[in-house]
Amino acid sequence: MSVITPAASVLLTRGPGSRDLFAILRGQHLKFFGGFWAFPGGKLSAEDTEATDHLEARRTAACRELFEETGVLVARRSDGEFPPTSPDLDACRHALLAEQIPFASILAERGLTVRAEDFALIGEITTPDFAPLRYATTFFVAHLPPGQHPVVWPGELERGEWIDGQHLLAKWRSSEILLTPPTVMSLETLGEQPIDLAPQRLGPLFGHLSRGAIHPIFFAPFVRMLPLKTAGLPPSTHTNAYIVGNSPRYLIDPGAEDTSVQKCLLDFLKSETPLTAIVLTHHHPDHVGAAAVCANRFRLPIWAHAQTAKRLECRIKVERMLNDGDRLDLGPCPGERDRSWFLEVLHTPGHASGHLTFYEPYYRLLFAGDMISTLSSMVIAPPDGNLAEYLQSLIRLRERPARLLLPSHGNVSARPVELIDAALAHRAKREMQLLDSLTDEPAAVEELTERLYRGTPEPLMRFARAQVLAGLLKLQAEGRACPLDADRWQRS
Ligand SMILES: [Zn+2]
Repeated sequence: MSVITPAASVLLTRGPGSRDLFAILRGQHLKFFGGFWAFPGGKLSAEDTEATDHLEARRTAACRELFEETGVLVARRSDGEFPPTSPDLDACRHALLAEQIPFASILAERGLTVRAEDFALIGEITTPDFAPLRYATTFFVAHLPPGQHPVVWPGELERGEWIDGQHLLAKWRSSEILLTPPTVMSLETLGEQPIDLAPQRLGPLFGHLSRGAIHPIFFAPFVRMLPLKTAGLPPSTHTNAYIVGNSPRYLIDPGAEDTSVQKCLLDFLKSETPLTAIVLTHHHPDHVGAAAVCANRFRLPIWAHAQTAKRLECRIKVERMLNDGDRLDLGPCPGERDRSWFLEVLHTPGHASGHLTFYEPYYRLLFAGDMISTLSSMVIAPPDGNLAEYLQSLIRLRERPARLLLPSHGNVSARPVELIDAALAHRAKREMQLLDSLTDEPAAVEELTERLYRGTPEPLMRFARAQVLAGLLKLQAEGRACPLDADRWQRS
């Protein structure tokens, strides 16, 4: 179960009636949406939570985070005026960032107070339950105080700039930048309206989401993530389905097996623009759970690789076989009308013999299925799983210049190559360990697993055994290990 951390975020605007807001670029290295543009903000500190009032704690956090990230201090003196940007405020900001002084002391020493009327409440949204890092974020609108200027000091953030909210969205549509899904949702809902109308325009939507509505998680225009609760392998609790395309549009991997989750998905799809087809990355139950139900209800064909079709025979009818190199048309490209917009089909066996990965070259999105997860390493279970093929497939994916990796399990990552390299390095390390543990003395798979995966929780041990067997079969194919009998192995 993931922990939910309270956080606060601020739509800082130049003043009443302005459509300009101050946007920040999160550092590439950050785990949570590194490389994405967003609104300033962050999690509540221990000091913030000392406030007894829920909203006051979040308002204080919003004020402090805004000050730390931009130097803007939305707190008033007793005469009602704001302090101007000054070397003194800069020194306070340095001291605060270095944790040398509490925020409350900075305010108290200067006779400043954070006033409720300076932070107009929009509402609160919680990161959907698909990622280990989740935040319950309260959003506010604040106006830039006269005499102050936001400046981002490189560190956690790379930079910041004033920009018309709709220009920020346009840059996202034309593939110039990445935006966090809450930023997309806020700016799309706000439309041409000034930023200070955000509480009225966004409040109802935020309320709707907090009552359990499916979040509009867009990573590119017409590319929506739908995290669905599934019974996958721990630590995964969800499988991300994706709706991709303008017209045609596809539903990738509707994995929900549970009937109540399926009902939720069906209700959602009913209100959506009609789909063209259901596309499957592979045959595992947590990827195909709701495929037949959705296909029947909306009269949709199911498309997958022939190996997947074979494994689903009798249960799910696959109508079109997808092959490596096929292109799935996505309709008009949102960023460039005349450009063809499509998904490239890549056959990437290894985790499953019929595994498909999809690459979208305009926004440079890699729909990775179970090739890579941002939660843990993938299980390669023989005989359908094949470690050597899996590594070849990973190397092939690395050649695509992807900017975002959209996995089936875990959050999206803006560091696809780094993730692929980490997966390759992990497998290389495991192979070395396996070779080291193999001697001229024959050893059973069970014994080797005990040696290599000591401390692994019992329910996961059968997957660990599958990994060891996958490793041994790869070594056998390379002439580096051989089976002595049905179960025992030795070096060759
Ligand atoms: Zn799988």
